[in-house]
Amino acid sequence: MRIVVVGGVAGGMSCAARARRLDESAEIIVLERGQQVSFANCGLPYHVGGEIEAAGQLLLQTPASLRAALALDVRTGHEVIGLDAGAQSVTVRTASGVIELDYDALVLAPGARAVRPPIPGLDSPRVRTLRTVPDAVALREQVEAGAGSAVVLGAGFIGLEAAEALALRGLDVALVELAPHVLPPLEAELAQLVTDELRRLGIDVRAGVAASSIAHGAAEDAVVLADGSRIAADLIVLSTGVRPETEVFEAAGVACVNGALVVDEHGRTSLPGVWAVGDATASVDPVTGVVRPVPLAGPANRAGRLVADAILRPGSARPIPQPLGTAIVRVGELTAALTGANRAALDAAGVDYRTLHLHPNQHAGYFPGASQVHLMLHIDAADGRILGAQAVGADGVDKRIDVLATAIRSGFGVADLIDLDLAYAPPYGQAKDAVNLAGMVGANVLDGTLRLWYADQLDRLGDVLLLDVRSRAECATGQLPESLNIPHTELRGRLDEIHEAAAGRPVRVLCASGVRSAIAHRVLTQAGFDSASLSGGMLTLRAVLGDRADQVLALPELVHA
Ligand SMILES: Cc1cc2nc3c(=O)[nH]c(=O)nc-3n(C[C@H](O)[C@H](O)[C@H](O)COP(=O)(O)OP(=O)(O)OC[C@H]3O[C@@H](n4cnc5c(N)ncnc54)[C@H](O)[C@@H]3O)c2cc1C
Repeated sequence: MRIVVVGGVAGGMSCAARARRLDESAEIIVLERGQQVSFANCGLPYHVGGEIEAAGQLLLQTPASLRAALALDVRTGHEVIGLDAGAQSVTVRTASGVIELDYDALVLAPGARAVRPPIPGLDSPRVRTLRTVPDAVALREQVEAGAGSAVVLGAGFIGLEAAEALALRGLDVALVELAPHVLPPLEAELAQLVTDELRRLGIDVRAGVAASSIAHGAAEDAVVLADGSRIAADLIVLSTGVRPETEVFEAAGVACVNGALVVDEHGRTSLPGVWAVGDATASVDPVTGVVRPVPLAGPANRAGRLVADAILRPGSARPIPQPLGTAIVRVGELTAALTGANRAALDAAGVDYRTLHLHPNQHAGYFPGASQVHLMLHIDAADGRILGAQAVGADGVDKRIDVLATAIRSGFGVADLIDLDLAYAPPYGQAKDAVNLAGMVGANVLDGTLRLWYADQLDRLGDVLLLDVRSRAECATGQLPESLNIPHTELRGRLDEIHEAAAGRPVRVLCASGVRSAIAHRVLTQAGFDSASLSGGMLTLRAVLGDRADQVLALPELVHA
């Protein structure tokens, strides 16, 4: 049997290697357009930034090592330019001419390429993308040749990594993002923390504005923004997203949705004998049912392995799991991570959900180095199923999001998180871990023990009494105008005062993080008040207000106390 694999990196090489481990007799040919295979795309920004010193460290295998270890026939500089599924052959452009190659099974793993938006001037030689080892080497050379300023277009995962890498190299970096905030899949209140960290790194964050053109200059270019401002740049990194690299295969008749190859649960395309994996394919969102590509390394690697099973062990191959899109990125001293659906995806799918905000410590507060994990969960309003989770923090974010990704995949309800028996000692966690706490808050919300209000409702709360139960010292750092401050420890003795101030109006309680206001809410509810607690407290409120926070929050002497 001859298996031909198109694309020799994550998905393609996983497939080829697994195929060999299953079948010593198969002829396995990997066709790769570039000069390298099995390279670490995910490490490219760290080579630019200098944390991965030698480009060679990004090359995990070579054609020679793959031949020696796995008897794979890996052909670099071989670009597939045609497919005839009827004849079971591909047309391949090589340095020595065009050839036809027959196959018994064909696996398409061509990945994705950088989107090039229609921005006039994008053809400047100073504009670079970051997708291959030569791209990273070229960027690094420009930096080492003395580039002093850079503009990164697009603040997705790769854009953030590129911006951080260039800032680490001492360049003046501006990061331009069309969406209202950086890392668009992240919720706005968490993205604000990322923006603050980018600014701390000295990066000029311009969100909510389009790059409208690039003006070429002799000494440097200028990126012109839609608001009329111009940012000078010695180099420009284009990271405005990717699109599946599928034109050849779509033209050959492989069914596609929005340019992504349509595959079934075993990676089979619409053409017989043709499978596909990785960034080039569309997959079903297990939370919303939406079909979309998930351009991430984990799903590509796993699908590659399972497609080899589907080809060589069709009777017993496990289906390819539907990816949640779990992703993570380091930004300075912070980590941001997410899994499952965000608000935008849930709103678009018409799902009725509740959102939880928590800010627990990543480990025992009394142990040195404690820091907060800013955690959000979306849960199904009817049955409490966990639909998505996101977190930002200095430490412990990866662990919580991985546990929550596992919980979503297992179909857990939020209350199931209470029961998780997670590893605990003071340097690592808390006896009630952040994930357990999320379960407790979620269970309280579902059964009505806790009623939440949200920071983004601030402007449309109507006629309510805002009750701030933080200490007076905390309120001195900024307080909502017209809010009444009664520290939660004094609450039970001052209910009459609240009664008078509320004058029959609902009471909307807040504190720093949502813990004390939840206690206050219980006191007030049991005393007959219509009460609700601010989800995530002042920490979340400040993040939602973003740059407006200092204007909106009054100093205490201006506040009714
Ligand atoms: C800078 C960067 C950082 C990233 N960081 C992360 C990360 O931290 N975490 C994460 O999960 N993911 C990350 N990714 C994404 C991850 O690398 C991809 O999701 C993954 O590599 C996809 O695997 P793939 O096999 O589908 O495609 P690729 O790994 O892109 O491989 C496709 C290969 O196919 C070749 N090819 C294309 N067309 C043809 C053709 N017609 N003929 C022959 N060969 C062809 C291409 O040259 C390419 O080498 C990152 C990507 C980049 C670029």
